[in-house]
Amino acid sequence: MKRIVLPLIAGLASAAIAADRPLLPVFRNAAEVKARCDSGIAAARNAIDAFAAGTDRASGESLSRWDALTIQIQDFGGPMDITAAVATEGSVRDAADACNVRVAKLTNALYQNAGAYERIRAVEATAPADVELRKLAIEGFEDAGIALPAEKRARARKILDRLAQLAVDFQKNTREIRAPVAFADAEMAGLPQDFIDRHGPDANGRHVLTLDYTDYFPFMENAVSADARHRYFVAFNNAGGEQNLAILDEADKLRRELAGLFGKLSYASYALPRRMAAGTHRVWHFLDEVKDKVVEVERQDLEVLREAKARHLGAPLADTRLDRWDVAFYTERVRRERYAVDQEALRRYFPSDAAVEWMFDLAHRLYGVSFVQVDVPRWHESVHYYDVVDESGTRIAGAYLDLQPRPGKYNHAAMWPVRSGSTLAERTPIGVLVANLDAKGLNHDELETLLHEFGHLLHQTLSRTRYATLSGTNVRLDFVEAPSQMFEEWTRHLEPLALMRDHCSDCPVVDAPLLERLNQARRFGAGIRYARQHMLATFDMELAGPNPGDPLATWKKLEEASPLGTVPGTRFPAGFGHLLGGYAAGYYSYMWSEVIALDMASQWHGNLLDSKVGRRYLDTVLSKGGEVPPLQMVREFLGRDPSPDAFFAEITGKAR
Ligand SMILES: [Zn+2]
Repeated sequence: MKRIVLPLIAGLASAAIAADRPLLPVFRNAAEVKARCDSGIAAARNAIDAFAAGTDRASGESLSRWDALTIQIQDFGGPMDITAAVATEGSVRDAADACNVRVAKLTNALYQNAGAYERIRAVEATAPADVELRKLAIEGFEDAGIALPAEKRARARKILDRLAQLAVDFQKNTREIRAPVAFADAEMAGLPQDFIDRHGPDANGRHVLTLDYTDYFPFMENAVSADARHRYFVAFNNAGGEQNLAILDEADKLRRELAGLFGKLSYASYALPRRMAAGTHRVWHFLDEVKDKVVEVERQDLEVLREAKARHLGAPLADTRLDRWDVAFYTERVRRERYAVDQEALRRYFPSDAAVEWMFDLAHRLYGVSFVQVDVPRWHESVHYYDVVDESGTRIAGAYLDLQPRPGKYNHAAMWPVRSGSTLAERTPIGVLVANLDAKGLNHDELETLLHEFGHLLHQTLSRTRYATLSGTNVRLDFVEAPSQMFEEWTRHLEPLALMRDHCSDCPVVDAPLLERLNQARRFGAGIRYARQHMLATFDMELAGPNPGDPLATWKKLEEASPLGTVPGTRFPAGFGHLLGGYAAGYYSYMWSEVIALDMASQWHGNLLDSKVGRRYLDTVLSKGGEVPPLQMVREFLGRDPSPDAFFAEITGKAR
């Protein structure tokens, strides 16, 4: 691929240059999706056959050919994956979903291809990247059942194919089974006037709110009516519907059966040897340690909220019971009372456009890269595309930002690594950052979400690996959240936040006293937050355990044992997309990665704009993708073994 030197001024990028860079296709209809899928699958099948038969030897060594195969599949599969999540037309999303299942089946077939396996096994790798690539490929073959007897191998293939279909169906249901909720005028009391105006009454005088985060969270934090919050809470915790509970149940049982084919007792013991944690024992041990630290802090936090509720309602404390739909409301109230922090008022500090420019500025200061907006075809007018350009003016990657909610769009926040970079193939990466933020301005939590996903986007786009298979976020699952969670720290320090002024001259600026209050407000509620993370991780590990029970019953049991109990009529697991989104037996990764994230952030010693540390981090971690095992990479950056001290201090509120 030819390298293109771009002017650093966005407006100068002409349409001719825009056409000359790798971009995502924008599909106009389902037929276009299907046509591209058909041709992609057919060509990939031929390439797999050629690889397995070794007839492609003339065009490169086995490992580079293997990586080229990954690239070939990704070139049509990557766009399908993101299209299913963000396309504006339901029929286009459905067609992309259908293709996603076909791509997954193709991949399952590839990993059960004996010829391909033998060819990879025969590779004598010595260079570290070669060793890692060979190892990862062999793990892929083995996990797909290549070494199993024929009958078990066939069953493994059937299970993996079925799991691919279930994953697609589950995500579609979470996007589309989301009944909106109508509220009367009186039930809107407590919400900011502009929120009420934007959700003005319909012909029947009712305010209809969606289950989008931009509607739900402000309402739960501000609406005075407990009945209204209760109703909204139940609706929100029914996203995905009964269908998804059935899917989850089937998936858990299939995963358990899959593990059994390999002689493993549980899906967790099948999946975990490939991770940093290396086995179920260390995960449970870690979760127990978290629990030890969090139980008392959570109890204290909840007691503060219960007292706030009693004061608010003028009721005796002894008669006051805190419900789940009270937590966000009274947390927000305590944050206002104690720390004078009002999440809604913070939106003036972080207008959306300025916040995006600000995070680009951080990347520029730390890693020397610029994000240059270029007008290219996009799937929605609110989506923007940027060239990522290094200090020499060379375009090194592409990035799309899709930040606002729309009907049918993926409703959480995530980064899609749609195109992996490779120095060998002279291939620049592309990442797509998807979130659902308030178009007007962000609160501090949303700013943190934006930087989290931007951390993934930087990992994806600043990768400089030989192979695409090991590029960017293609790392072990329990490391992948470390760069993203580390970047959240940049919302918690004065120097980076002060730079917001450069991007919005008339915005109020976070000063030292406000920042102190913001950090105290965030620390308040840490017990509740980490207890929740602990419960989600435990739930995931139980479903991936030796005897996965009914998902809803398993969840309810955990909730019942927790201080706030369970709420009748809710089906939280039906909307827990991680369980079918690649995080099965892996939700613990968030806290596991956070240990590393906070430890790595400490290397800046409070000076988060220090570009020397930034460049060292870029060289030792961000640019390395999966070419170096995570622990080795982290040790190199830290100059020692990672320590959980910063993480546990965060939980217990003794941080910094
Ligand atoms: Zn993440």
